[in-house]
Amino acid sequence: LSEKLGGILDRLTRRGALTEADVDAAMREVRRALLEADVSLDVVRSFTERVREQAIGATVVKSVTPGQMVVKIVHDELVATLGSDGQSIDLHAVPPVAIMMVGLQGSGKTTTTAKLARRMVQRDKRKVLMASLDIYRPAAMEQLAVLGRDLDIPTLPIVDGQKPAQIAKRALEAGKLGGYDVVLLDTAGRTTLDEEMMSEAAEIKATANPHEVLLVADSLTGQDAVNLARAFDQRVGLTGIALTRVDGDGRGGAALSMRAVTGKPIKLMGTGEKTDALEDFHPSRIAGRILGMGDVVSLVEKAAANIDAEKAARTAERMRKGQFDLSDMREQLLQMASMGGISGLMGMMPGVAKMKNQIANAGIDDKIIKRQVALIDSMTRQERKSPDILKASRKKRIAAGAGGKVEDLNKLLKMHRNMADMMKAMGSGKRGPLAGIAQA
Ligand code: GDP
Ligand code: MG
Repeated sequence: LSEKLGGILDRLTRRGALTEADVDAAMREVRRALLEADVSLDVVRSFTERVREQAIGATVVKSVTPGQMVVKIVHDELVATLGSDGQSIDLHAVPPVAIMMVGLQGSGKTTTTAKLARRMVQRDKRKVLMASLDIYRPAAMEQLAVLGRDLDIPTLPIVDGQKPAQIAKRALEAGKLGGYDVVLLDTAGRTTLDEEMMSEAAEIKATANPHEVLLVADSLTGQDAVNLARAFDQRVGLTGIALTRVDGDGRGGAALSMRAVTGKPIKLMGTGEKTDALEDFHPSRIAGRILGMGDVVSLVEKAAANIDAEKAARTAERMRKGQFDLSDMREQLLQMASMGGISGLMGMMPGVAKMKNQIANAGIDDKIIKRQVALIDSMTRQERKSPDILKASRKKRIAAGAGGKVEDLNKLLKMHRNMADMMKAMGSGKRGPLAGIAQA
């Protein structure tokens, strides 16, 4: 796979811009790559279609190769599809909060139950009870009991002859009586998707009314992942997915399929056999895995950095020429917001220390930046180019359009004037405030 994407890059690197044909060629390779990573066909189709649309619309920045641009778009869309921020287990319910694990046999339900219990006890300081509802394999209940003893976390005493739903009921009663925060229900899987497993899981759910139903799924699962996730979601109803064996060398395509088909967030990742090998879900890690090369991420970062640097350089050039208008300022404000500060871009300019202070004194934070950008957005092109034409009635219109005050607009214009003046002074060869230091 890495050779495949490498191939795409090689072919696209020497082109000037992304044409529709380029994108289509690249998408053929990306489609093949995703299929090889075991992403299901339907998901591959809709995914590549989305990426294709974005890629064709995107402008390719000079210092980024078209190939890098495509990979960045593919990567970003993968991350977005997988779910951009880690969603964690929801415990906002009346205790004891029941959490039910479902999935095929051997997917890692029992191990994940113990891992989650450990994390909730040790990190979140919750009182947790674990219960095994696996009555089919004699060793299964004992497996959870052993894990519990190792971790010093209680498990529900084993009573022979009870059905899974009865055990679930007993677990919740014990949870209530014992003042537990959380009761983890480890259910029995089957080797394949079957009706017995589904109806049993549905019955347990109806009895225990769990706040979370997590599908525990092996990340090495292939195309079956889609059917598995769809069936569990339709019959039982899922609230999330726990992906196991992320430490293995699987491509992670199952994660994308399950997420796309159910729309349910991936909440946890198992990264080893030990009970401490549990992490919150990291979409970018799985995205890199699906694309098949660790380098993709650094490639993407480089592309992103180039895009920023080029924009910055363009603005800086205009500043030097004294052409710094409100559109440039808007660009700068967005840069500041995206960098979480004023360092990066301003750092490229000579004599910026004073300006930095000025901006710091003005108390620019993200909220203010957003407001300022909104003000600029409601100006016409002409107004952005020549702010001098802004008189009272225009100001009123602009402020109203941005849902702000004329006062804020005046502040913005003053800041722009100060910055533009300083730019002009530097551009006309006057020494910037830092020039002396540089020479000393
Ligand atoms: P269950 O049948 O769904 O309850 O699956 P188990 O929890 O018994 O796990 C089956 C096997 O997978 C055990 O040998 C576990 O140690 C192993 N396992 C579970 N999760 C992970 C994981 O995230 N990484 C690795 N490497 N092994 C795991
Ligand atoms: Mg088990």
